[in-house]
Amino acid sequence: MRLLKAAAVMIAIAIPIIAIPYFFAASAGFLYDKADPRDRTVEVYDVEKGEKVTMSLFDYLCGAVAAEMPALYGDEALKAQAVACRTYYEKRAAAGGSDAHDGAAVCTSSSHCSAFLSEERQKQRWGEKYDLYRKKIENAVSAVMNKVITYNGAPIDAVYFSRSSGKTENASDVWGKNVPYLVSVDSSVDAGDGLEKTVSFTSDEFSEKLLSKYPSADISDLSASVNSRDGAGYVASLTLCGVTMTGREAKSLFSLPSADFDITTAENGAVFTVRGKGHGVGMSQYGANVMASLGYGFEDIIKHYYTGVEITDV
Ligand SMILES: [Zn+2]
Repeated sequence: MRLLKAAAVMIAIAIPIIAIPYFFAASAGFLYDKADPRDRTVEVYDVEKGEKVTMSLFDYLCGAVAAEMPALYGDEALKAQAVACRTYYEKRAAAGGSDAHDGAAVCTSSSHCSAFLSEERQKQRWGEKYDLYRKKIENAVSAVMNKVITYNGAPIDAVYFSRSSGKTENASDVWGKNVPYLVSVDSSVDAGDGLEKTVSFTSDEFSEKLLSKYPSADISDLSASVNSRDGAGYVASLTLCGVTMTGREAKSLFSLPSADFDITTAENGAVFTVRGKGHGVGMSQYGANVMASLGYGFEDIIKHYYTGVEITDV
């Protein structure tokens, strides 16, 4: 009996000795830090496998950055991309899982969520440069680990695209929705080699594509004219063979890199001269890389491309 009492007293003393420091450590974040992506397990719907997979948020972010931005870009550009990817994740997670993902917050499809490269795919893409690039991306993700971009205290839609033709687009011009932090800004750093591309179609190819969506088009004589452009220079409206459409519709129909183009037609076909790549809204990744090479930090890059935002710790 006395022994039992002694044991009970010892247990009563031992529990607080063990539990109290655990409680303080946990509440101070020493044992489990929800903001730290290495400590946070997330579910990602793997489109290739057709199932949910579990990984650390850190690995998800490395795979997203690897898929979304060339790994040879500057460190500050990669950090800006990592913050954009983290912001995207947090916004999705806060909205709850998507039914399209079997409840996971994000999937690996670039046409639905953010693109994602598994470690296996990273090895395939980078070959002998895998170790170098993986380290670069891990360092970038680690450096900005807990940061998200916010506007009025809430994570933003941190959208981005490859390269502008000198200015980014207003979200209202592209998606018809006014977003205060997604407004046109200067991105003249996007100028230079490779900005312009020509995309050519024979008259048959051109007619076939046009008729597939607009059966009323008059293809007896190939004609094209740009009617108007938005403030950033992207085509707002054009008329092809009697059919009027938006620049974005033409971009999609003819798989053009961007909606900033000129078009010429002749009897034997049509030629688009296209500037930049992507939808033009938010951060220009090419511009981010040039800014990084000029000595700007990731915060400068983010605040340049997303108007009036804050960079907040999770
Ligand atoms: Zn998705």
